[in-house]
Amino acid sequence: MPVLCLNFTFYPLMQISSPLPKVGTNIFTIMSGLAAETGAINLGQGFPDYPMDQELHQLVAKAMASGHNQYAPMPGLPSLRNAIAAKIERIYGAKVDPANEITITPGGTYAIYTAFTTILAEGDEVIVLEPSYDSYVPNIEINKAKAILIPLKVPGYGVDWQAVEKAITPKTKAIIINSPHNPTGAVLSKVDMLELERITEGTNIFIVSDEVYEHLIFDGIEHQSVLRYPKLLERSFVCFSFGKVYNCTGWKQGYCVAPAALMKEFRKVHQFNAFSCFTPTQVALAEYLFNEQAYLRLAGELQTKRDYFISLMKQTKFSLQPSYGSYFICGTYEKISEEGDKDFAIRLTKEIGVATIPVSAFYQDGKDDKVLRFCFSKKQATLEKAVERLVKL
Ligand code: GLN
Repeated sequence: MPVLCLNFTFYPLMQISSPLPKVGTNIFTIMSGLAAETGAINLGQGFPDYPMDQELHQLVAKAMASGHNQYAPMPGLPSLRNAIAAKIERIYGAKVDPANEITITPGGTYAIYTAFTTILAEGDEVIVLEPSYDSYVPNIEINKAKAILIPLKVPGYGVDWQAVEKAITPKTKAIIINSPHNPTGAVLSKVDMLELERITEGTNIFIVSDEVYEHLIFDGIEHQSVLRYPKLLERSFVCFSFGKVYNCTGWKQGYCVAPAALMKEFRKVHQFNAFSCFTPTQVALAEYLFNEQAYLRLAGELQTKRDYFISLMKQTKFSLQPSYGSYFICGTYEKISEEGDKDFAIRLTKEIGVATIPVSAFYQDGKDDKVLRFCFSKKQATLEKAVERLVKL
């Protein structure tokens, strides 16, 4: 009830019961904020510091100038969905119906969130492999389901499929996979995909597959997309990102691929959330997607950056773990400090001038192996400047 006090009306403080009581501000926001505040070199949040292809943003300007500025259709521009279907057939050999099985989304994370919201009900269980990208568990919990956490094997971050199989119960609604993997740079092999196929066969378990780094894969390894496995695809929501593929993470545009019956429900959720995505970039991407080289050359370019970063880091006391894909490589600082990884990452940002991501942020219980994640999708000069600073430790 309002209380009158002189000529002001005070309302009692509104109470809110948090839908995510365990969650604070996410680590990328914190570390990028701290980097901006202190002027540190940002090897934390995953984004390139070099320009995207001029041809692509010129196509966006052209699209805007020629009047493509109104709502795109709810599932996405048909020409873009057609181009995606053609690309999927070309590189993964899957026939996907662009009208009913592809939806353009505001980014990969949104696609994952929407997939979970589409399938989860209270009390459901979702198997999550840890360390895991920080949005998965909150996405599951906000849908009143429970994350069943299975650790990836150490060293190497391979999947313990026996443990996954043992964790399956009648309540298991989904398994989320991510390859190339954020934060570790591990990748799933054909054997992994066949194991996943075997343990889900004959069940009602959905798969949510985070493949935002599909083209960022090194050493000649082939990306094992769910799209290559028809038996997996029939139960999957496969999530992709244009931002990661075309060096424009700020565009927040991606897409989800799923069989028609699943996609029909996905669209029911999407239509009352974002409804549709920014039109000019869709017009541009529809044209640009036919340029195969633009996405196929990425792996080589990024592999050069990975290798350069590894060679520079040899001058420091960090020990890097292998990375086979993504923007990231992890490394332990055991030889430098005994501090917890969050404290160490904050000190590194403030005192040394290099921001990173503490890997404990990817564990629900904050497991701290004294490992930091470095983003190497940066200009050569940025990597050099960062390592010049890290050598001082
Ligand atoms: N995917 C990016 C990363 O792992 C961050 C995206 C975000 O900040 N939400 O760094």
